Amino acid sequence: MKNQGVRKENKIQYQVYQGGSNKMSDYKINTKCVQAGYTPKNGEPRQIPIIQSTTFRYETSEAMGKLFDLEESGYFYTRLQNPTNDYVAAKIAALEGGTAGMLTSSGQAANFFALFNICECGSHIVSSSSIYGGTFNLISVTMAKMGIDVTFVSPDCSEDELNDAFRENTRAVFGETIANPALTVLDIEKFAKAAHAHGAPLIIDNTFPTPVNCRPIEWGADIVTHSTTKYMDGHGAAVGGAIVDAGKFDWMAYADKFPGLCTPDESYHGITYAQRFGKEGAFITKCTAQLMRDLGCIQSPQNAYLLNLGLESLHVRMPRHVENGQAVAEFLQGHEKVEFVNYSGLPTDQYYETAKKYLPDGGCGVVSFGLKGGRSAAETFMKHLKLAAIETHVADARTCCLNPATSTHRQMTDEQLAAAGIPAGLVRISCGLEDKEDLIADLAQALDRI
Ligand SMILES: *Cc1c(COP(=O)(O)O)cnc(C)c1O
Repeated sequence: MKNQGVRKENKIQYQVYQGGSNKMSDYKINTKCVQAGYTPKNGEPRQIPIIQSTTFRYETSEAMGKLFDLEESGYFYTRLQNPTNDYVAAKIAALEGGTAGMLTSSGQAANFFALFNICECGSHIVSSSSIYGGTFNLISVTMAKMGIDVTFVSPDCSEDELNDAFRENTRAVFGETIANPALTVLDIEKFAKAAHAHGAPLIIDNTFPTPVNCRPIEWGADIVTHSTTKYMDGHGAAVGGAIVDAGKFDWMAYADKFPGLCTPDESYHGITYAQRFGKEGAFITKCTAQLMRDLGCIQSPQNAYLLNLGLESLHVRMPRHVENGQAVAEFLQGHEKVEFVNYSGLPTDQYYETAKKYLPDGGCGVVSFGLKGGRSAAETFMKHLKLAAIETHVADARTCCLNPATSTHRQMTDEQLAAAGIPAGLVRISCGLEDKEDLIADLAQALDRI
């Protein structure tokens, strides 16, 4: 098995750039988007090769045995690891400033693996209540069935309220930098401080801002997750996820809390991950050797290739998504038929100050707003949009929008929707990469039809 990421492999992958004199980590994020993760040697393919092979050949059983014992680095079966995936995981780890990374089949799998790698029956999670619906279900329903408890806290809670949520069995803290779809902005330092005071790592889902606009590790996060399906791919082409380890959490200092990392894994030849791979490599190596082996949520190398094409232009696309999001938010805020707009780039937004700190270059292209006429106004408005398509998706090159009341939440009454903080007239619009004047003109003509 490949010693995931960093410890051996990324040393080679990160460092050699134009003669090996510079380290990839010395470059700015724009350069990392284009070149981190894969550095071909003399005569090798310039673009990342798609290793479309389930398995890998060895000359002796002894050589293969060393891989199984995690004594040597190498590949044996694509359900656990594949070189194409590892190039792309190494790039995402470099972008986030982490020490190791891995790809998963989806964002859901990334969040499940990140949590389940350190939680087991009897564990407890503290999570922001303002998170993606799929993750909310994962934690509150599916993981509850596994005997893992959760306490949800408001992202805006006081430090005291946050500290009160912890229990002796708390093993992880979870939140989203910019929450989908509520667009709340998390005070990452507040959550990191509380997590560390209680001996638990902070896991941050950084899907919406991407590392181009925020790097949670710089603010104290220990593990960063992504739905790469969104801006990282950015073209609506491939579902995927990623996990990055900051390499900073001292598992051995809390060995009694994290037996999976700090005591021998009998299912893996008695390896103690935190001892063998240290702070920098233990989390991702265990996640690969154990969870990927048993649950198999691997990303296909084809999808990893597509994801890398997206990453190559992420730093060019994100500023345009932000520019369009800001322009659309400002236009909507000034419109008489619009009741409110949520966008952290607006000075009137509740999260404006928090965003100035964590997202100085802007957050993302997703804006939500409420129409005065409620459900029927939203329906009329969306029906007349020409450029913005109705989709249950966000964060790709083409502008799309959704009215939860008539789609994802259509089983709920107007009263139930209001109570859940999703008024019937709420529309979420994900601004793509089109010209902002065309987008605004499209919104204006559709608003005129109400
Ligand atoms: C979409 C999304 C997910 C789930 O990702 P999939 O790739 O759809 O499985 C998780 N977190 C956030 C913030 C998301 O937007």
